[in-house]
Amino acid sequence: MKLKQSDLDRLIRPNVANLKPYSSARDEYKDVDGEMIFLDANENPFENGVNRYPDPQQRDVKALLAAQKGINTSQLLLGNGSDEVLDLLFRAFCEPNKDNIITLPPTYGMYNVLAGINAIENREILLNENFEPNVTEILKIQDNASKILFICSPNNPTGNSFSIEVIVQLLTSFNGIVVIDEAYIDFSENESWISKLSEYPNLVVTQTLSKAYGLAGIRLGICYASPSIIEVLNKIKPPYNVNELTQQRAFERLVNIEDVMDEVEEIMEQKEILIDALEKISFIKKVYASDANFLLLKVDDATIRYNQLIEKGIVVRNRSTQPLCENTLRITVGKIDENKQLIQILNTLN
Ligand SMILES: *Cc1c(COP(=O)(O)O)cnc(C)c1O
Repeated sequence: MKLKQSDLDRLIRPNVANLKPYSSARDEYKDVDGEMIFLDANENPFENGVNRYPDPQQRDVKALLAAQKGINTSQLLLGNGSDEVLDLLFRAFCEPNKDNIITLPPTYGMYNVLAGINAIENREILLNENFEPNVTEILKIQDNASKILFICSPNNPTGNSFSIEVIVQLLTSFNGIVVIDEAYIDFSENESWISKLSEYPNLVVTQTLSKAYGLAGIRLGICYASPSIIEVLNKIKPPYNVNELTQQRAFERLVNIEDVMDEVEEIMEQKEILIDALEKISFIKKVYASDANFLLLKVDDATIRYNQLIEKGIVVRNRSTQPLCENTLRITVGKIDENKQLIQILNTLN
């Protein structure tokens, strides 16, 4: 599908399309670096590092990110975690009590929560037994009110990436926006879908600094899309949604991208060591293939094993309530000594 302006007009909520956004003091006069006297925003003038409002367009972080990813800043929106980015997508495209989204369980729980908050029907089409999307059923259930299809790849909690052919089929046959959530892309050998943004105008890619970048505490989520979609999201985002401290820490981390890569490499090495050790434990029935920094395990009894680990001071995630995930635990790859302790404790359980 090629998204024309007329298609975008059909997808955007009418109130959003007609909205005139709030114009902040920093929007109206942007050059905060210049030697100006700022008497426009009712700030306290005594400098302490954060007495001024942050840049509403986060230009420094965006410029760095755009250069690293080989895209234009007009294809970028930053949010207070990807959770805010996902919420903005709902608010831009989904009319409460009228529109619907399609999600593919077992998957990230926030899509369903955000659908509930925004009064949007969530049409769930389960992944197949190989944890791949069921294209036929997805296309069968879509209608004119289906605004967003959420694809999480690598998927949480299953850990696998979906096949490229399947994603291309969905991108070309789905009538609405296709969001590919790439929270774990930095742990995967696969190329990010951001390189395909100009090919598929209905494509939106989300990423985050919460996982590989080690900055879950600062809350920074990234949305990549066509300039026309980004323009819509910019209209509805809160003016100062990414605070000054977050912008500073994100910038520093992106400058030192080699540190991130080194840590990712170490996590990946540890993952392989963990897989080998886990596969030798008799009550672990299966270690699922993972393109992420976590492993999904099928065990004999997930509730018992979860509680045994808690007693020994190790917290993992019991994913058994998710469809297709009966008796599964999700384990994040930790540091070398943490993983050693995990394996040692698992070996003492019976
Ligand atoms: C962890 C995770 C996120 C991250 O959300 P943030 O709000 O950016 O911390 C997004 N999507 C998936 C699938 C995740 O697992």
